[in-house]
Formats: sequence, structure tokens, C-alpha cells
Amino acid sequence: MKVARRSFLGGIAALALSGPLAAQTIGGGGDRSQALRVLLGQGSVEPVAGGFLFGGERYRGSYEILPDGRVVNVVDFDDYLASVVPSEMTPSWPPAALEAQAICSRGFILARSDPNRPYDVVPSELAQVYRGVASEHPASSSAVRATSGLVLRYGRGFAQIEYSSCCGGYSESSADAWGAAALPYLVAHPCPYCTASPLYRWKADLHGAHLAAVAERIAPQIGMLQNVRLREFDRSGRVRSAELIGSASTARVAATRFRIDVGARLLPSLLVRRQQELSSSGTQAFAGLHIEGRGLGHGVGLCQWGARGYALVGGSAQEILSFYFVGTSIGRI
Ligand SMILES: [Zn+2]
Repeated sequence: MKVARRSFLGGIAALALSGPLAAQTIGGGGDRSQALRVLLGQGSVEPVAGGFLFGGERYRGSYEILPDGRVVNVVDFDDYLASVVPSEMTPSWPPAALEAQAICSRGFILARSDPNRPYDVVPSELAQVYRGVASEHPASSSAVRATSGLVLRYGRGFAQIEYSSCCGGYSESSADAWGAAALPYLVAHPCPYCTASPLYRWKADLHGAHLAAVAERIAPQIGMLQNVRLREFDRSGRVRSAELIGSASTARVAATRFRIDVGARLLPSLLVRRQQELSSSGTQAFAGLHIEGRGLGHGVGLCQWGARGYALVGGSAQEILSFYFVGTSIGRI
């Protein structure tokens, strides 16, 4: 068993989460010994040159085995990023967009690491796919190397990092998306760069039987579902609530909750431009809802298709990030 380096994130995550962090407290400038402890899970390990095999995949760095048998990959932070960034953003996209993504992913992982565990991160908790060397792509790796040690900062602290596929032409504020405290750099504003996304405009039919099953789960007291109305548009044009009208009563649920229960694939975003009841075939009481909307994902922070579009018209990673995180700057960890 090899245990090589100190845990980089375990030491600073508490600082990252507790507020302003003075740049000089971390030896970020050119420090290449930043090790991240990544939980892989149960399985057997076979050392190979430059790393090891686990679950049929080759991983860089070294490993530890926890007392319960789970394997932890101790890997250079940039090597981890080189593996996950290609699944966060298509590697064939422009270098400036990939660099913006690498900087965002670095900050996203930092903020979500947990110093109170024997590992820093669990890839699935970050909704990241980590398959070691197999996932790497040269273009993403060079974006990670070009931005090594760089994160987004606001004032003396780290900026909160959020990103989603396509904002549909209007980004969302963190306060409106999640009812969280308003952050001056995560605000709603027009985005002219993401029109090439295949889901910039979409249409969805949510069928009555599916919506009835959703209503049965989240608001069983309403009786038989008779209609659904998405209501209360926020500043970005996203709906805030879903009104479930039933035979016994009406319930109003948060639109974010409704989207999760309906399925994010069926309802790509909450930026709804049109909604109409599906015409009934006769016997069915409520046929469902036809919705037309824009974008994919929550729309807060970096719009990934927008980063691509901005890069294609000459925007640098810095310009892209300043546009989507207003008033932030790029600094070292
Ligand atoms: Zn956008």
C-alpha cells in the first residue's frame, strides 16, 4: 500500500467554506503537490507503472485502503480534473471554454470537499464521472494544465461555483433558483451566446398519467389530478411554483421540486415560455401539459453552451468567467 502525500483539500476545505481566505495562507503558486483523496469504493487493486488498476480502469497517483476495505485514490488535483472535465464539457469545444470549465470545476470540487472524512470527495456526490486515465482527453488536459492552481475569487474569498448546460438566453440568480442568500455575482442577466444549444428552444409533452403519478407522490391530498399550472415567473422568466389542481383540493409546490419529480429530461428547465393543456382523447380527464421552454439545467453561473459561443467569437476564459460571475476575478487557490 502506498500513502504518498498529504491531503491537499482536507487542509483547506474548512477555510474555503468558512469565508475569506488570504491568498498567502495557501502555497498555491506553482505548488504541484496538491493531492486529492478520491473515494473509489470496494474492490481489488493492482499496482502498475504510474498508478494502479481498480475495477478494470487505470488510475493515476497512489492509493490507500480504508479500514472498511474501501479504496481511496490519492491523486494530483489536476490529474483528477483531467479525468472529469471531458465529461463536464465536450473536449472538441474551444480552448477558452474548456479553460473556463476547468477553473469552474476546480472551485466546484474545492467547495464541496469534506474535511471531516478520510477522503476529500466522492465523484458521484459531485455528479462527476471519474474513470481515471480512460476518460482523459488531450484538449481537456491542456486546459487543466493551462489553468493549474487557478480558481474564481470574489473579494478575498472563493466564489461559489455553479454551472449548467444552457441558460436558454437568460441566466438565473442563485437566490431565485434555490431561495439561497443573494450573491452579487450570481445574478440573472441576458446571455446571447448559447443559441447553438440543441435545447436552446424545446417542446415537451408531459402526459396526464405521468403527472398524476407525480401528484400522487408529492401531493396525495389533492385527490385525482385534474390540471397543472406552472406559475409565478421570476426575473429571469423561470417559473417558481407548480399548482396541482385535484378533485379534492389544490396544492402548490416549488417548481424545482416539481421538475425533479417529473424528471429533468422531460422538463429540461424552468424557463417556460408557453404552457397548454393537451387535448383530451375523450375518456381521460386530464391528458397532460404541453410546454415550450428554453435551456437545459438551472441556469445559475456558467452557461456552458454560452461559454462555447463566447469563445467562438474570441472571448478568453477570463472574459467568459467575468460575464457569468459578475465582479469576480481569477486568482490562485
Ligand atoms: Zn446561456
